[in-house]
Amino acid sequence: MIEMKKVGKTYPNGVQALKDINIHIDKEEFVYVVGPSGAGKTSIIKLIIREVVPTEGTIHVNGTNLGDLTKKQIPYLRRKIGVVFQDFKLFPKLSVFENIAFALEVTEEPPDRIKPRVMEVLDLVKLKNKTRHKPRELSGGEQQRVAMARAVVNRPAILIADEPTGNLDPETAWSIMGTLEDINHRGTTVVMATHNSHIVNHLKKRVIAIDDGNVLRDEWRGAYSYEA
Ligand code: ADP
Ligand code: ADP
Repeated sequence: MIEMKKVGKTYPNGVQALKDINIHIDKEEFVYVVGPSGAGKTSIIKLIIREVVPTEGTIHVNGTNLGDLTKKQIPYLRRKIGVVFQDFKLFPKLSVFENIAFALEVTEEPPDRIKPRVMEVLDLVKLKNKTRHKPRELSGGEQQRVAMARAVVNRPAILIADEPTGNLDPETAWSIMGTLEDINHRGTTVVMATHNSHIVNHLKKRVIAIDDGNVLRDEWRGAYSYEA
């Protein structure tokens, strides 16, 4: 599903963000990527969605070698990968419904399929009662639910979440984890970069710990850290 072999990334300014990353993530896994600020977590995410290209090594996503992708093919890769961010990135002027429908309208989804599919994902994230609201009329947790609904409306094989609970209070963060688990149980691979040690240590999953551009640990049902 996602495979990185001997991947290195040096940015044009000379910063070596990733040194020798070897990762294999299977279909339907739920993986936390943890590590201190500057470790290289976001760089890994940007490589998977082909926002940046590696300086060394090869990356396969969904059977495609990203090194073989042409510029024209990148949008098709992006449709197979949903992404959510700490700051939600919703369109402020569009309603909840429109924010999600937009992601389908840019594909060739037949118009009569859009409404039922949007309502289906709103049901999944438990926001069917907020379809006409604008993002600013929602709580942070509700905005993150809209972002998750938008990320999965195209039925992507993979959902990437970069610090999805970063701006949320602990109770709301836990409810977002419930939704991410629901999405995962429906067959979507979830890769979540996080600093939330409480969640990682209590909701046990595979943990890939990154430090200084290398994989420090890769453990099934791992912990956030072994330091005191
Ligand atoms: P994390 O997400 O774990 O905080 P990042 O992948 O964002 O780590 O960053 C890893 C290292 O690469 C850091 O030293 C950061 O400053 C550097 N870096 C990230 N993006 C860029 C960029 N576009 N240009 C130059 N250096 C970058
Ligand atoms: P849902 O109702 O959508 O399943 P929840 O918010 O109830 O989502 O919980 C998601 C996951 O997080 C569950 O596995 C639950 O056991 C766990 N969880 C929820 N709240 C806490 C908490 N305060 N501390 C530890 N685990 C929690």
